Formats: sequence, C-alpha cells, structure tokens
Amino acid sequence: MNIELLSIGDELLIGQTINTNAAWIGQEMSLIGARIVRTTVISDTTEAIQSSLDSIDSNTDCIIITGGLGPTKDDITKHTLCSYFNTRLEVHLPTLKKIEDYFFKRNRPMLEANIQQAELPLNCEILNNNYGTAAGMWFEEKGKIFISLPGVPYEMKGIMLEEVIPRLKEKFSLKSIYHKTALTQGIGESFLAEIIYNWENSIRSNNLGLAYLPSPGLVKLRITSYRGEEDKKIIDAYFDELKNLIPEALYGFENESLTQVIGEMLRTRKMTIGTVESCTSGLLASQICSISGASDYFMGSLLTYSNSLKISLADVSPETLEKFGAVSEEVVKEMAIGGRKKLGVDCCISTSGIAGPNGGSIEKPVGLVWIAIALPTKTIVKKFQFGDNRERTVQMTVSSALNYLRYELETT
Ligand code: ATP
Ligand code: MG
Repeated sequence: MNIELLSIGDELLIGQTINTNAAWIGQEMSLIGARIVRTTVISDTTEAIQSSLDSIDSNTDCIIITGGLGPTKDDITKHTLCSYFNTRLEVHLPTLKKIEDYFFKRNRPMLEANIQQAELPLNCEILNNNYGTAAGMWFEEKGKIFISLPGVPYEMKGIMLEEVIPRLKEKFSLKSIYHKTALTQGIGESFLAEIIYNWENSIRSNNLGLAYLPSPGLVKLRITSYRGEEDKKIIDAYFDELKNLIPEALYGFENESLTQVIGEMLRTRKMTIGTVESCTSGLLASQICSISGASDYFMGSLLTYSNSLKISLADVSPETLEKFGAVSEEVVKEMAIGGRKKLGVDCCISTSGIAGPNGGSIEKPVGLVWIAIALPTKTIVKKFQFGDNRERTVQMTVSSALNYLRYELETT
C-alpha cells in the first residue's frame, strides 16, 4: 500500500516547528508494512492544498493530511476538501455534543469557532478524537482513501493509533514488515557504501531493502523485508557477513549504544575503567557514566587540559611533552599509562587533540586527535584526523575512543 503524506502549516515551512508528525507517521506506517512514497510540506492556503491534491500520484492508495483543522480562522483544510470532493459542510451532531461536553467539563465558555468545528464534510466518516476538539476525517473518494487529521502531535497520534491504523490494516490486509538495524561507527557513509557494494547488491537482489541512516560519526544500516518475519534468518546471515566485512566498525544492533556495549563488556570481564582527557575535557567520562550501573566499572577521570596537569596528575614526563608536544603519540600513550596507574584501573583511555577551529599547524592540523588505551598487557595508540568543526571533532573523538576499546576487547 502506497501512502502520501501532506503536512500543512507555514510554521513547518519556516522551520519554527519541526515536522515530527511526518517522522512519526513514517515509522508507524513502516511497522504495518505500508510504504510512504512521498511527503509534502505546504503552506496553509487553499491554493497550496488544492494543488497538492491535484498532483497526487495515480499509484497512491492513501493520502494522510495533517494540520489546519483547528478552531482558528486560518484553518482551511476542511473547506478545501469540501470543494475538492464537491460536497458541503454540515453540523455533525455527535461531534457537536462531544465539543460541548469537552468545554463543559473544563468549565470553559464555548466560542462560535468551536461550534464550527462540528461542521464536517457530508461525505466523510468521522474519526473520533479523544484528545481535542478537531475530529479526524476519513474519505473514500476517487479510488483512494483521504485521511485528514489535526496537526497537534498528540491528537494526531491518538487518532492514528485508535482509529486510522486499525482501519488501514483491515482495509489492505497488510503484512507487517520485519527489519533489523546494524550500528556502525567510524566509516563515513560513502566510503562504507564502497566497502559493502557487493553485499548491498546481493541484499537488493533478494528483494530486501537496505537503508543508510547516518548521524555524526555513526551510520546505521537497516535491512527491511516486506515479507515479514519469514526473512529473519536470511537477514541475520547478511549481518553475520557484514560483521566479517567491517569488524572494526560494526558495534551492535537495533537501539544499543556504544556506551551500553562497552559497559556490558567491562562488566562481564570484571574490568574497571578510567579516562585521562585533554581535548574531550570530560565528555568521554560523562558518556561512559550516562547509563545506570556504570559505577560497577567506571572509577574516575583525570581532566588534564594543561601540560602542567598532564605532568602532575598523569605522570607524563616533561621531556616527552617538550620533545613531541601535547598532541602526539608519545604523550597520549604516557597519559593512558600514567592514568591507569594513578586511577588504579584495568583499562584507561586517554585523548589529546586539536579540536580547533584555531591552533592548527602544517604538521598538526586542526582535527588531529590521538587516542590511547592502556590495558593490563599492552597499550595501543591510534591517530585520527577529523574536520574543523570543534563540537563534531570532540563528539567523534568520544565515539571513536569507545569503539576502539570495544574492538580491542572483542578481539583479545
Ligand atoms: P488546532 O486545533 O490546534 O488548531 P490544527 O489541526 O489546526 O490544530 P495546526 O494549527 O496546523 O493544527 O497545528 C497545531 C499545532 O500542532 C501547532 O503548534 C503546530 O506547530 C503543531 N503541528 C502542526 N503540524 C505539525 C507537524 N507536522 N509536526 C509537528 N507539529 C505540528
Ligand atoms: Mg490550528
């Protein structure tokens, strides 16, 4: 079943309100196996609504419209629908009764505009709104289904869950879709696409869908089957294959976070952890502690932004600092080793880098970051080159450090 979404509202166009309705409806529809084929955001004008209705694709089965149903006079959706369907408004008595009750219970006076909300197109079925005064509407016209819902997110969700989704499922006898998502860190989307080129082709040739869902430093890969659970085994096998293709990057599945993955690994290994931070200035520690129960393994941190504190707190030698500079393999290594001893932990991560946007040089450009991990049997060090956005570099340093540790623990 193909669905088009029409989000009405000037506030959406100018970015004052984020179109969370479209995101939510997209997720819910994909869970029941319906496809959103187009989402359009338009202005609150008759012309814009009219022209969107005129350009609905012939393969679309259902159009979901949100917004513009409220009591304000700028709400014109239902008037436009009336003229589109060549019908008229009439007071719908059960809705009028509901609106009267709504105001009576709240001891608030009812305005003329509220009464007008009970005027609904003659050709629609009314969708009950238990969360507000604007009723939803269901039309079956021109071989398609048109659904019009209020824009207020919790009213829209209520009507969708209670009225719309059950009707759609029944009408289209939909088969739920199945999907599974793998989580990767450290490989950019386009580079990742190159590495998994053959893998991706094989997925698509099996009539499965693959979606890349990128966010800073992370890319989620979601495989979707429109045949439901029956493809679960094939999808699992694809992810096993992916794990072999990108073992450094793939850190988990579904909604897991790197912090959770690390926490679980440390707990089962009965290992403790601490950090010595320069360019991340405590963010790494804060991330590790962001989940409950972190006290089982997280001991503490040294925040050594200055050279003198790197020396006094983390036992970095003044000569190493002098010779190689704070952002160097040698110093970050000494920070991790010194921190491991000072904090009395099994595993210590250290970070040092040039977060920018100022302070770079030819040898040490902005975005250069060194990360070291001191473990009971060895210390490992890795160099990273991020961009010139300070916040992003710090964020990438944190996720790279966590993922580096995850990979190290997994493979040793
Ligand atoms: P109301 O009865 O409140 O007037 P309505 O159906 O007329 O409801 P709108 O006036 O379009 O809806 O929007 C009501 C509220 O819902 C506004 O705060 C608006 O910003 C918010 N809203 C509208 N559309 C969306 C959307 N697509 N995503 C998130 N919020 C939205
Ligand atoms: Mg409104």
